[in-house]
Amino acid sequence: METLEFQAEARQLLQLMVHSIYSNKDIFLRELISNASDALDKLRLATLQDGLEADASDLHIEIEADKEARTLTVRDNGIGMTRDEVVELIGTIAKSGTAELLRKLKEAKESPELIGQFGVGFYSTFMVADRVTLVTRKAGTEGHGTRWESAGEGTYTIDEAPDAPVGTSVTVHLRPKDEEDALYDYTDEWKIREIVKKYSDFISFPIKMGDETLNSMKALWARPRSEVSDEEYHEFYKHISHDWTEPLEIINMRAEGTFEYEALLFIPSRAPFDLFQRDSSRGLQLYVKRVFIMDDSRELIPDYLRFVKGVVDAADLSLNISREILQQDRHIQMIRRRLVKKVLSTIKDLLNNNPEKYATFWREFGRAVKEGLLNDQDNQKAILDVATFASTASQEPTTLAAYIERMKEGQEEIYFLTGESRSQVENSPHMEAFREQGYEVLILTDPVDEIWVEAVPDYDGKKLQSIARGSVDLPSTTSAEDESTGDFDPLLGYLKERLAEQVKDVRLSHRLTTSAACLVSDADDITPTLEKMYRAMGQ
Ligand code: ADP
Ligand code: MG
Repeated sequence: METLEFQAEARQLLQLMVHSIYSNKDIFLRELISNASDALDKLRLATLQDGLEADASDLHIEIEADKEARTLTVRDNGIGMTRDEVVELIGTIAKSGTAELLRKLKEAKESPELIGQFGVGFYSTFMVADRVTLVTRKAGTEGHGTRWESAGEGTYTIDEAPDAPVGTSVTVHLRPKDEEDALYDYTDEWKIREIVKKYSDFISFPIKMGDETLNSMKALWARPRSEVSDEEYHEFYKHISHDWTEPLEIINMRAEGTFEYEALLFIPSRAPFDLFQRDSSRGLQLYVKRVFIMDDSRELIPDYLRFVKGVVDAADLSLNISREILQQDRHIQMIRRRLVKKVLSTIKDLLNNNPEKYATFWREFGRAVKEGLLNDQDNQKAILDVATFASTASQEPTTLAAYIERMKEGQEEIYFLTGESRSQVENSPHMEAFREQGYEVLILTDPVDEIWVEAVPDYDGKKLQSIARGSVDLPSTTSAEDESTGDFDPLLGYLKERLAEQVKDVRLSHRLTTSAACLVSDADDITPTLEKMYRAMGQ
């Protein structure tokens, strides 16, 4: 037997669990069942695709309670783990960004849902246990299995388990009851039944207690929406997303005919901490006729909608379809196009009918959606339709359509200015004449704004015009640059000479009302912020 130490981050997380920052302790059982279900999916898939020789005819999950010993065991006959996998998967937290999230967690004691972003699933057992034992054997391996045990402090032990069957069993040694009059404990059969029904009913393998099967196993995406409660959808969402909070929006889709598929999509209510990290998990789950095929299928949804979670179940694909084939598959491309349209129209519905939800959505995901303006030409208009922007007109963001309605007589263009923050943009000298004359200017402060404004020429026939560029004409003034510079010629000449190294030209302008001078770019120069971005990127 060996005693090993948890990785530092894992230890910190365990501490949070032992001291139980999350009030709903029932969910430890959901997490164990969720892991068992994943393990069964993996085993079935390995027999289908990798030619693993294993018995996949009776995949199931068993729950066993022992009142005397105060233990609860969840057992599966799924893929199992090797010794090294146990050390790697249970002893460490591999996700990038862990340290940063832990820091946030410490600051925000009041928002324990944050912890869900880790997928701390297995560790949640330590909310109710003073000791946890895991016994496992990997399918398709010879020799003994592995026994892991820990009290959730700094260390765990690892040992050989000679007789372990294929699969994994997790035994939770429940803490002593702290109150004599507690209404239940986790060895009560009715309590177990209740938790399974509530959180895990849709799991596609039988969850058994004795001879009884506790769950209905109905695939949620195959059931009519009217028959499924919000709570069932929410639990399903939590299962597939590893998020602990409720989704913002649920989307059902179904296509019949030559190519049949069903889809159940979710828009989360909060951006994951790694939304803008390259290696964040993204993509949808792919099923073929109710059989799980793969997680994170990126072919089904474009990157700019990477926050969308859910399942696509296609009837006519081969069960052993590979990722390489997926990329080329015409049907998959068609499904993807339809999903994009549906997600964008759902956002539009929120914008028109549920401003509060829309505001949450755009705050969390708007920055990602705007990437689509660059990457998805076909839907550029549809994306602009659902986008909102900060504006000088009010503190509330505006759509482009609403901006156009407010345009002043004679105004032909949509004015914007990019920058780092609202106050920086508002205080820019470029703003002066526009403010003075009552022209509304959009305030674009996301880094991606710098880039998409270059790619999008106009909206509804109105050109998008940076007020930091060239000689923007204010309709109500005669263009300063056309006027004779008369008395100012000597000054301009002097400035041009002195600043020859720094600027291309020095001009008189009517743009300014209080500032004496400002820097502008030529019409086809890059904007100052973009210039800064490129410089930061070393170009
Ligand atoms: P997550 O499920 O979000 O990955 P968990 O903490 O629940 O995080 O589990 C960590 C990892 O341990 C899983 O990803 C899986 O690889 C492994 N694991 C946990 N339970 C089982 C099980 N019953 N069978 C096989 N592997 C498991
Ligand atoms: Mg899990």
